[in-house]
Amino acid sequence: MVQKLILFDIDKTLVDEMVIDGNPWQSAFKSVYGIDCGINVSSVNTHGMTHKQIAIETLKNKGFNEVEILEKLDFFIETLEKFYKEYLENGKISLFPKIPELLQKLSDKKYILGLITGNTRIIAFAKLKKAGINKFFTIGGFGDDSANREELIKLALERAKEKYSFQFDNKKVFVIGDTPKDIFAAKKFHLQTIGVATGLYSKSDLKKLGADFVLDNLQDIEKVLSIIG
Ligand SMILES: [Mg+2]
Repeated sequence: MVQKLILFDIDKTLVDEMVIDGNPWQSAFKSVYGIDCGINVSSVNTHGMTHKQIAIETLKNKGFNEVEILEKLDFFIETLEKFYKEYLENGKISLFPKIPELLQKLSDKKYILGLITGNTRIIAFAKLKKAGINKFFTIGGFGDDSANREELIKLALERAKEKYSFQFDNKKVFVIGDTPKDIFAAKKFHLQTIGVATGLYSKSDLKKLGADFVLDNLQDIEKVLSIIG
């Protein structure tokens, strides 16, 4: 049996939309730093950013210095996780079509499924649990591991080795994501990259940025399997 490792991004790759009553960011900024604001980053968008990066950049934009930010950052992340879990209880997560079926097929093939996401581990699993697909995933690199997406990939590879004795072979590791950040990070390790145009970026954007394969979405399971093998 050929062992393969498939690493998924979450937002706009597996998860289409989250509908919750409340803004966990706003609640956490207010409760920990005493400011009334939601996400405030100067980058074009938050797609592909880790939760830690989003927090740091927002606080910088609000005039906090590094010492003030770092002093309470861990507590901020814990508080953010608490609000996410609370709001998700009565909220709703919609997945893109056929995602559970695709994950089931890949898991039937005994492939190792993992996550590379800017979400913290707790927020990632809270979202996936709400969507009913948490059982497919055990390992990954998460937004609270590091603010750096490359580091997340490194950690996911280490965890796959530790938990499943996965022998690294760059041809057998696929990273699936919707943003340039997903693709760039994977490329650093010469992994196979699949760009999906279900977020802000088109197939041609993702192709230009170096994705090995590009798809409109992950609905056509046979097509995805023909790439992964
Ligand atoms: Mg994404």
